[in-house]
Amino acid sequence: PAAAPYRGRFAPSPTGPLHFGSLLAAMGSWLLARHAGGEWRVRIEDLDPPREIAGAAEAQLRSLHAFGLAPDGEVLRQSARGELYGAALDRLLAAGDALVCHCSRSGLAAGGGVHHGCIVGALRTDPAVRLRVPPGTRIAFDDLLQGRVEQDLYAEVGDFVLRRADGCWAYQLAVVVDDAAQGITDVVRGADLLDSTPRQIFLQRRLGLSTPRYAHLPLVLDADGRKLSKSLAAVPVDDDEPLPALRAAWRALGQAPSVVAAAGTPAQLLDAALRAFDPARIPRRHELSLAALHNTD
Ligand code: GLU
Repeated sequence: PAAAPYRGRFAPSPTGPLHFGSLLAAMGSWLLARHAGGEWRVRIEDLDPPREIAGAAEAQLRSLHAFGLAPDGEVLRQSARGELYGAALDRLLAAGDALVCHCSRSGLAAGGGVHHGCIVGALRTDPAVRLRVPPGTRIAFDDLLQGRVEQDLYAEVGDFVLRRADGCWAYQLAVVVDDAAQGITDVVRGADLLDSTPRQIFLQRRLGLSTPRYAHLPLVLDADGRKLSKSLAAVPVDDDEPLPALRAAWRALGQAPSVVAAAGTPAQLLDAALRAFDPARIPRRHELSLAALHNTD
């Protein structure tokens, strides 16, 4: 059978406007998808009302538009997909792979923060649901950029949450269900999510879903070595001035600045970028300093 055609995605959480780190993930996933002749989907991960900012999803979509990054197909919103997550959860519960957990946060902390079965007698009214992670569970995969990644899921993570005690669906469950439902073949995202990937692969196996390829882009650090999302440099990208941010993202992807120097519009820039894009030049590091982006060819 022919290999599945490439389908990538960008999946922002609407917790604020698009910033440089998210633009990098958007442009990186877009370039890799288009370079492979594939599709690029956008999914709004609005699962966590307490952390969401009103209007942020619309602002992110406006920014993508201003930056010339046009999604294929309809934009999915996770807030409308609870039935799918519920069906997956029911299957896991019926198979005995998930457990209803009444442990309190403080009870968990007493156990070192890693959940290995519930603490007897630790009852509270609203339960969470967790995926059971049996002793000896180790997950390994080959990331296209970061190389071999291995995690002892039992020791380092333990039983992990699928539905929170407040009723919200956990990111890990929703992302696995949706990547499969959308036929995503390639997940390209920031390296801050690298240590979630073994959980997602384990969950895919429990649900009988296939595992996509993964490529984790380096995180951009500011001049002081702090994660961009935690610093002043996490200022929103400017929809009225898309070219400087697109050029900086292009450089952060390890590509030659001269290629996009002459472009006068986002469409021209992306067109030139796509023609010259060389995936082998993407830095294979976990982190990238913002200072390094100012170097020219
Ligand atoms: N929604 C997640 C975030 O914005 C990204 C999820 C993913 O790409 O898997 O951090």
